[in-house]
Amino acid sequence: MRGLYVHLPFCRSKCGYCDFASEAGKEALIPGYLDALASEAARYDALAGSFSTLYVGGGTPSLLTAQQLDRLCGILETVTGPFSALAESTFEANPESLDAQKARLLREAGFSRASLGLQAAQDRLLAALGRPGRYADFARAFAALREAGFDNINTDLMCGLPGQSEADFSDSIKALLELKAEHVSFYALEVHEGTPFHAAGVQEAPDAAAAMYENAAAALKAGGLERYEISNFARPGRRSLHNLNYWEQGEYLGLGAAAASYLDGERRANTPDTEAYLAAAAAGAEIPRQYSERLEGRALRAEKIMLGLRKTAGIVLSDDIFIEFREEISRLLAAGLLEKAGPALRIKESRLYVSNAVFREFV
Ligand code: SF4
Repeated sequence: MRGLYVHLPFCRSKCGYCDFASEAGKEALIPGYLDALASEAARYDALAGSFSTLYVGGGTPSLLTAQQLDRLCGILETVTGPFSALAESTFEANPESLDAQKARLLREAGFSRASLGLQAAQDRLLAALGRPGRYADFARAFAALREAGFDNINTDLMCGLPGQSEADFSDSIKALLELKAEHVSFYALEVHEGTPFHAAGVQEAPDAAAAMYENAAAALKAGGLERYEISNFARPGRRSLHNLNYWEQGEYLGLGAAAASYLDGERRANTPDTEAYLAAAAAGAEIPRQYSERLEGRALRAEKIMLGLRKTAGIVLSDDIFIEFREEISRLLAAGLLEKAGPALRIKESRLYVSNAVFREFV
């Protein structure tokens, strides 16, 4: 299985916590960026038709106009073939920039899955996060996706936000359960250097986030969504195949500024500098790399364990890998962080929130 990821680094405004590769107010660059994607995609002719999944993310891909989206789909089809023939094709959208016309266009282009960012169902929290949309925008965009025929919608939430109570978070979960979202991902707020939140001295709240996380996991389970990864929940048959490929150490190609790839044993990422990316693509030059590395031997096997343990089903280790990491595994089993489940090794469900303590053993 091989995935294709495409990054669109454009947003309407910059959220206070965001350290993703995205810029606000640069819509004028979008036509040139589509040319650059076409030129980068053409370099991977040899991989055309080899992809099982597609994920268009950002940034805010839904910021593109309908005409630009049409062009984007045409470019990507040269690499993937018809989207409807893929095992899964996801388009990421933000509520305020997704209207009924765009939702229809995406569905007609063959996208099978949409991911719609919510973060919180309370307008005061959305305002504090610096999000451009409000809950009414989300509800309208979600309805537009349903109306267009999307029956596989992911929604994102955040916990541990300043001013967020446990009741706020469980109300957000309730709203998603009422909408019958097929998939929910949630993450604790992290405050990264270089973000407006960091400059303003906003503090992370790991204890509050942990309590919200556990309550939400129980509510989602009761609502019919099963946890299959640390932060991901899905109704039966609706797990993200694209992300499962990452956790199974599968190959993927990333196109666009900041996009990461894992091909032929090499992990690399394009420059996150959109203008440097555009200049290189226009000149037909090599795209500058943010990093490029080749994991081998023990480091590659340790990564396989860490990725596999993100899944609630855990990982089945071959005898030689098990023997190589016997000491680390024994310590984690004795500490009650890992458990055996038939042939698989997995993090205990009650300890998933502290999974970093497990991963540290393998670094
Ligand atoms: S919409 Fe997403 S990518 Fe864009 S600024 Fe906000 S968090 Fe970052």
